[in-house]
Order: sequence, then structure tokens, then C-alpha cells
Amino acid sequence: MPTDAPAAEIRRLPQTVADAIAAGEVVERPASVVKELCENAIDAGARAIDVAVDGAGTVRIRVVDDGIGIDAAQLPLATARHATSKIRAVADLEAVATLGFRGEALASIAAVADVSIASRPRNAAFGARLRVRHGERVEEGAWGGPAGTAVEVLDLFAATPARLRFLRSERAESAAMLAVVADVVLIHPEVRVSCTVDGRVRLRSPGSGLDDALRCVFGAEAVELLPVAAEGDINVGGAISEPRRHRGTRAGLVLVVNGRRVHNRALLAAVSEAYRGLVPAGRHPFGVLSVAVDPLELDVNVHPTKREVRFRDERGVFAALQQACWGALEGASVYQASLPAPRAPRLGDGRTEWPVAATSLSVAAADGTNGVEDADASPAADAGATWSLPSAGAERTALTALAPLRALGQQGGRWLLATSPAGVVVVDPHAAHEKVLYTELLTEFVSGSTYGQMLLIPALLECDARRVELFALHGALVASCGFAVEAFGPTTLRCTAVPAGASAADPARLLGELLDSLGAGGPATEQRHRAAALIACHAAVRFGDELAPDAQQRLLDRLLETPGGYTCPHGRPALALFDDASLRRIFRRPAQ
Ligand code: ADP
Ligand code: MG
Repeated sequence: MPTDAPAAEIRRLPQTVADAIAAGEVVERPASVVKELCENAIDAGARAIDVAVDGAGTVRIRVVDDGIGIDAAQLPLATARHATSKIRAVADLEAVATLGFRGEALASIAAVADVSIASRPRNAAFGARLRVRHGERVEEGAWGGPAGTAVEVLDLFAATPARLRFLRSERAESAAMLAVVADVVLIHPEVRVSCTVDGRVRLRSPGSGLDDALRCVFGAEAVELLPVAAEGDINVGGAISEPRRHRGTRAGLVLVVNGRRVHNRALLAAVSEAYRGLVPAGRHPFGVLSVAVDPLELDVNVHPTKREVRFRDERGVFAALQQACWGALEGASVYQASLPAPRAPRLGDGRTEWPVAATSLSVAAADGTNGVEDADASPAADAGATWSLPSAGAERTALTALAPLRALGQQGGRWLLATSPAGVVVVDPHAAHEKVLYTELLTEFVSGSTYGQMLLIPALLECDARRVELFALHGALVASCGFAVEAFGPTTLRCTAVPAGASAADPARLLGELLDSLGAGGPATEQRHRAAALIACHAAVRFGDELAPDAQQRLLDRLLETPGGYTCPHGRPALALFDDASLRRIFRRPAQ
């Protein structure tokens, strides 16, 4: 702007313009409208909510509930800014018990769309209806429809083309709206919910409890969820995925605090940490975790759409959530053989031969969607894949049900065989040992009780500039793992002690790889996890190493004592169970 330009005139904006600006905070995209309308329905005590959207929500969004309704005389206030029935005074903000309280949602939506509200309180003979277009009231009248409230939003953002331009594809917007409704289903399993997109029913939850709600949202994967139930000052409920099922993003984990879905990094980290060492790096659990705290412990008024909340005692909530996850993970089930009964061979030439599928075992699930990403076990390689996760309705066996394990022997330096009250168990000794060491190392790192073992002959590591620098940066962490390392000339490191468990490993190689892994960065917890996983992998017995009988038994005992001990830090299974039922199927004995 030229410096000699006259001073600009300041004007008060007309209310409709101010409202349209303010609306931007609350109504970012069609999914925000669906969220606000559903929250209003929940706040109104609805037992049933029907959502219908057309044209990615920019053509029509309609939400109908059977809640308490709005009095005819009050209806015009519903779309006024800062008008709410939920709080009255500033003090009420201290302990908000409803999802809404700002009195902005309907006003904001009505500022950027054509909104009709029709409502009748349950005990009133008549209700009223109201239509507001871009902030202007255009129609009102009586309404004789069913009790409850119906809100219809047409032409969203038609008058604010900038907003329209920023919307993503129809598919993406529809998916976002469905995700919002799925959250409602998970958070309120007792409410009957349906969602129709362009005339097709996409989601229907019967309102009959969490199990059905989980099935509605997670489909077949719902059977892979472990129930979470931890009571205390902070209650935690819900269901989280078995460690062998995981996803590439965190989006499948719904975190709920006092009935509100929140996006809280610290709490998500609490869950990730509970799964650390159980799922491969970069993969994430899914499910729903519902935290209930005293409303006084919570500030929900920190974000316009209330996506974020603040806790008075975030550490306490973190710990409660993590403990609840650990508790649930204890119940995780082990890999189980599920072998189809061998079919009688139908070979034309009169030979009898078992179908290959019945005898070829691999750790890939029949559908290939098993979370295990193991280069050695390609799902495609075994069309008749016979190892699988317990399927719907099948018995699950928790790791705790395996105790005691009695070692029977080792097959050619490879598989350990053991008996268990639950059946016959096959153990991968490397994965099992790795898991045990990893968990021990991590506990030691955290408590600072790691001790090193002196090397008889110090190991020398020739370093490039990067490793020299990494050592300068992370020397303390390296030492906290139990290493004693010092500079020995400009490009050489001298290692005189290694972590106690890792004395059998090649010290120089281990140190080099540890430095490289620390170079990947990340928060301290992540660094420690990687260090523990790496040291454990180096220190564990190799697949192919012969174990003496007492060493076999010791390994099994330690494995059972290790929490969540059925997957190694890379997410591979450490053991698999052949229970009685599957052995009976193989040997064609009648089931018991
Ligand atoms: P808030 O939810 O923050 O109070 P809204 O703008 O979303 O603000 O709604 C304004 C008011 O309209 C609410 O306080 C409530 O009294 C009423 N209202 C909105 N939707 C419904 C509904 N579905 N059923 C009953 N009352 C509703
Ligand atoms: Mg509201």
C-alpha cells in the first residue's frame, strides 16, 4: 500500500457478516454441522438419531431426534448467537455436563446455510418450526410432527464460496461425516443411530450396547477387540485392538473424555506406550477408550469446537489410561492353530493323498489381513492358509491360560515344544527371548537400574563423522543402556562394557547400530524403545541355536512372566497354540 494513502475508515460490520465470520470457527466443513447437530440431539436426551446427508453435505444435511424438543416460544432463540439452555453463569463453566454450552452452533450454521428447525416437546400438543437463511429469519409457523427435533440444513456454504472451494472431494467429506456419526455410535452405544448417505444406509447401530456398537463401526474386526474396564477415581472403559491387529494411522482410536471425543496427544501417547513392544513401529492400535473424570477436573472451554480439553491432572489421567490398556492387553489371546478338517481326497487315479492345505502351516491369516508383517510369512504363498486368529465366536485363549508351560524339547535348534493346560505350544526361541530381554531392558532403563558387563577385551568401533556426532549427542543415553564407551582418538570409540544381557553379542556392531538408531530421532521414550528392541535382538538366542533343556524351561518361564509376552518388539508372534479342538480336527477325532 502506498505510504501516502489516507488512513482507512473503520466500520462496524453488519451482524450477518460478523456471524458468517464467527461461523467459520465452528462450521469448518459439513462434518462439523453433523457433529454439532448430533451433539444437540444427545444433549436433548435422544434415544434415536437419524442422520441423512446428500451431496457431501452441501446439498442437504438432516438430523432428526426424539429428544426433549424445544418450546414453540423458545424456538427463535435457538438460532440466536450466545443463546443456550445449558449454562447460565460463568461459574457453570467450571463443571459443564453437556456437550454444548456455547450457544453458537445453530447460530453459526444458520449464518452459512438455509436452516429449518421443527420441534415439539414430548408433552406439548404442538410444536413450532422456523427457517433461517444466511442469518435472516424467512419463515415460521406451527408444527404438528412427532415429538423431538428435526433440523435440516440446505445449501451449506452457498453464500461463502471460499469455504466451498476448500472442501475436499465428495467422498472425503462424506467419509468425514460418517466418521462423526461413527463416533456418536461408539460414545453412545445405547442410542439408536442411523446414517444415510445419498439415499443409502451406511451405518445403523441398534442402540443395544457396546458390543453391537463396536460391530457396527469396526465390522468383522470387532471380534478382535479386548474389553477395557478399569474403575477408580478415573474410570476407563471401552475396547481396544489385539496387538496383532494394527493400522497405519491413529485415526481408528477414538478417545472419549466425559462423553466427548477429544484429540489429546498426551493421552494418545499413553495408549501407544501401552502397545509399545507389541505392535511394529509405526503401526497403531484401534478401538474406543472412554475416560470418565470429575467434571471439575476438566476444562472443555479451550477450543471452539471442543476438540481439545485440558486436565487439571493430566499425568493422573495418563497413568489411569495406560494401566487400563495394560489390564486389557493381559487378556490378549495367543496365536492359535485353526485347522480345517482334512477333506477326504478326491483324486481320480485312486491314490489317496491329503490335500496340501491341511498340512501346510504358516502364520498368515487366511484372509491375509493379519497384522503380522513378516517377510518370511507371505499370505500369498499359502492359499490354503491354516493358521488364523480366533474367528468370530471361536474360543480365545489368553496368555495367562497357558501357565504352566513345560518344555518338551527343541526341534533341530529351531522350534521349542511345550505342553500347557491349554494345549500344545510351539515357541520361536529367538522371538521369545527377544521379547523377554526387551521388556527387562525397558524396565531397567526406566528405573535407571541398568548395569553393564565389563568386556575382557575392549571393543573398538571405527566411526564416520555422523556416528562420532551421534555419540557426542546421545552419549548419556548410550551409557544409560549399560554401555561404557569413550572416545579413543578422533574417529574411534572404545567400548569397555555392554548391557549385562548382551554380553554374547558383537559389541562393536551393536554399538554402531545403536548409534544409527538413535540418529532417527524422536522423543526419549521412543529412543529408549528402539534401543531396548535393538539390544534385545542382538542379545537374544539365534533361531538355530541349540538350547539345553534347563535353558528351554527357563526361557518359557520368563516368557510367561513377561507382560504381553506373545509378540516380540517387531510385532511377530513368539508362540502359537494348538488347542485340543484343533488337534482333534487334524486327527479327525470327534470334538468334545
Ligand atoms: P448449545 O448446544 O451450545 O447450547 P446450540 O446453538 O447448539 O448451542 O443450540 C442452542 C439451544 O437450542 C440449545 O441450548 C438447546 O436448548 C436448543 N436445541 C438445539 N438443538 C436441540 C435439539 N436437537 N433438541 C432440543 N433442543 C435443542
Ligand atoms: Mg450445541
